[in-house]
Amino acid sequence: MTPGKAACDACARLEREKEAARQAGDLSKVTDCAVLLKRHPGHSKRSTLSGRGRA
Ligand SMILES: [Zn+2]
Repeated sequence: MTPGKAACDACARLEREKEAARQAGDLSKVTDCAVLLKRHPGHSKRSTLSGRGRA
């Protein structure tokens, strides 16, 4: 297991794809993955998304 840089499964997969693309020399795909990672919603702020309030 890697200490969590990735915030979710999708991001973890993108990170791996990005690395693979970089090693393959596919820079446009690297950029693509980077953009997707940046834009990935939902975990920059973990505030209230209809939080289950306790009671
Ligand atoms: Zn994510």
